[in-house]
Amino acid sequence: MADIIQLLPDHVANQIAAGEVVQRPASVVKELLENAIDANAATVKLIVKDAGKTLIQVIDDGIGMSTTDARLSFERHATSKIRSADDLFNIHTKGFRGEALASIAAISHVELKSKLDEDETGTHIKIEGSEIQSQEVVVTPTGTSVSVKNLFYNVPARRNFLKSNNVELRHIIDEFHRVALSHPDINFSMFHNGSELFGLPASNVRQRIVNIFGPKTNEKLVPVEEQTEVVKISGFVGKPEFAKKTRGEQFFFVNNRFIKSSYLNHAVNAAFEGLLRDGAHASYFLYLEVDAKSIDINIHPTKTEIKFEDEHTLYAILRAAVRHSLGQFSIAPVLDFDRDANLDTPYTFKDKHAAAPNVEVDEMFNPFKEEQASLKRSMTFKKEQTAAWESLYVGLESKGNSQDQEFSQVQFESDDKLLSMFDEKDTKSGLQTFQIQNKYIVNAIKSGLLVIDQHRAHQRILYESFLQNITIEEAVSQQLLFPLSLQFSTIEVATLQGLQKQLEQTGFVFSKLDHDDIEITGIPVSVAEVNVSSVLEQLINDVDNQVPDSHFSQSDLIAKSLAKSLAIKSGQKLTSEEQAYLVNSLFACKEPSITPMNTPTFVTLSNDDLEKKFK
Ligand code: ADP
Ligand code: MG
Repeated sequence: MADIIQLLPDHVANQIAAGEVVQRPASVVKELLENAIDANAATVKLIVKDAGKTLIQVIDDGIGMSTTDARLSFERHATSKIRSADDLFNIHTKGFRGEALASIAAISHVELKSKLDEDETGTHIKIEGSEIQSQEVVVTPTGTSVSVKNLFYNVPARRNFLKSNNVELRHIIDEFHRVALSHPDINFSMFHNGSELFGLPASNVRQRIVNIFGPKTNEKLVPVEEQTEVVKISGFVGKPEFAKKTRGEQFFFVNNRFIKSSYLNHAVNAAFEGLLRDGAHASYFLYLEVDAKSIDINIHPTKTEIKFEDEHTLYAILRAAVRHSLGQFSIAPVLDFDRDANLDTPYTFKDKHAAAPNVEVDEMFNPFKEEQASLKRSMTFKKEQTAAWESLYVGLESKGNSQDQEFSQVQFESDDKLLSMFDEKDTKSGLQTFQIQNKYIVNAIKSGLLVIDQHRAHQRILYESFLQNITIEEAVSQQLLFPLSLQFSTIEVATLQGLQKQLEQTGFVFSKLDHDDIEITGIPVSVAEVNVSSVLEQLINDVDNQVPDSHFSQSDLIAKSLAKSLAIKSGQKLTSEEQAYLVNSLFACKEPSITPMNTPTFVTLSNDDLEKKFK
C-alpha cells in the first residue's frame, strides 16, 4: 500500500492551530491587549465594530517593532519574550508562545502599523490568510496598531458558530475588564460602533474597579491584605449584603494575569460561609503575587488556568485573609478613597461619649408577612381568566389534540361547588387539595389523582400572564412610594434599554434608564419591591445567554425570564386558598400541561393505575 501520510500545507496547519488560540472575537481582543501590555504601553485603545465580527483594533503607545520584527511577528513560534525552555518557568510577560499573531493572521485580514521610538518612519504590513499582501513604509506614531478584519472569513464553520452580537460583545467586554483590572496603572479605553463604552484613566485598583462597575461599587468593597512568604494577597471582596444572584464579578489575578480557579474560588466561598443569602454569589477582585517559578502557566492554550506549586497552603492563606477582612469590616468603617477622612466624624461629636443606641423594636413585625403578601399578589388573576372548570373542559375537549387528550379525561369531583370557588371565602371548601413535600399539590379528580408541581405550574401561569401583557394590553403597575434606584453597569443598562418597551408593558415604569443609573417608580403587580433587582439581573443574564437566531422573540424571553424568577419555589408552604388559586389559574391557561420551558406541570394517576397497584 502506498504511503498515505502527508504534511499539511502551512496555511492549513496554521488554521488548525488558530482554533486553539482564537475561538471567538474576544480571544483576539485578549491577545492584542496582552501584546500591548507586554510592549510597556501607557495608553491602550480598543476599537470594535459589530461585536468584533467586522473589526477589532488595538492601538498602543508601547515600544513598537522594527521592520524585521514586524514581519517576523506573524511567524509561528516567533516571540521576543522567551529564549529557551527554561524561561517557561520564569515568565513575566503575558505572552510567550509566539502563536497569537500567526494564528490571527491565518483566519482574518490583518493590518499592522508599528514604529520604534528612535525611528523616523514605521512599517505597514497587510496580511490575508497568512499571505503577505503588502509591506510599506508609513508615517505613524511610536507604538503599534493592529487591526483585524473579517475574522474567520476562511473558516465558515467557526463563523457560523459565533453567537449574536450581544453575546460576543459581552465576551469582549469580559476580556477587556479582565485585562483592565490586571493593570490599573495603564490607561484603557474601549469603543464599540463609534461610541465609547469605557474610558479608564490610569489609577489604583479601587478606582479602576469603580470606574468599570459604577460609582456605587465603592461602598461595597472590603479591602483584603495579606503578606506571607508564599504569597502576597491584595484586593477587595464585596460586602456580603450586596452579593448578587448571578455569578459575575469574580476575579483572581495571579502576577497580574487573570486566571480561573475553582479551587481558589472555593477558598473564598468558604470564607463567606454563613454570610450570604441563599443562592447569592460573593464578588471579589483578588490579586495574588507569587514567585514566577512556583507556577506553571503553560498548561492551557489561553493561559487562563495555571498550576500552583503549593495549592493547599494558598487555599488556607486566602480563606483566612478574606475571612479576616470580612470580620473586620463589620466593626471598622471602610474609608472612602475620595472622601475627606476629617468628615467622617462630625466635629461636635468628636469628644462626646457614645450613648447606647435606643433601639425600637416592632414586636408585631413578621418578616414572612411580606413574602406571603407578594405570593398572593403574584397569584391574583382576573376573574375571567380563571373561569369555571366547566367551560374549561369544553374548550379542552373541542381542541382534542394529543397534548390535551390526557386532559380531556380529567373530570373534577364536584363541578357545581367549583363554580363559586373564586370567591375567597369559599375557596377553602371549594377545592379539595393538599400539598405534599411543600412541592406538589395533589387534587382528587373523578378519573383519579392529579399531582401538580407548584413551581412549574406557577411558571406557566406567570408566563402567560406576562406574555399577554406584553403583546396585547398594558399591564397594571404598582406605584412605588419612593423611587427605587438601582445600580447596573453601563452594558447591563444597555441590555435593559433594548427591552424597555416590553418591560414597560409588563408594568415596570422607568423614570431613569441611562448610563449606569436606573430609577424605577412602578413595578408589575406580581413583583415584590425587594425582588426587583434580582429579577432584572436574571433577565440580563438570560438575554446574554439566549440562543442567537432562535425564533423566540424578545417578548417571549422576557415573559419566560420573569416567570422563572418570580414563580413560587418548591419548599414553600401554601395555604389551601393559595393552592386553589394555583390550580384554578393553571387550568385557565392556554397550555396548562407544560411550563414555558417545555417540562410537564402535572401528572395524573388514573383510577385504573390505582387499582392495578392494589392487585
Ligand atoms: P507572544 O506574545 O506569545 O510573543 P505574539 O504572536 O502575540 O506572541 O507576538 C509575537 C511577537 O510580536 C511578540 O513576542 C512581540 O515581540 C511582537 N509584538 C506583538 N505585538 C506587539 C505590540 N503591540 N508591540 C510590540 N511588539 C509586539
Ligand atoms: Mg502575544
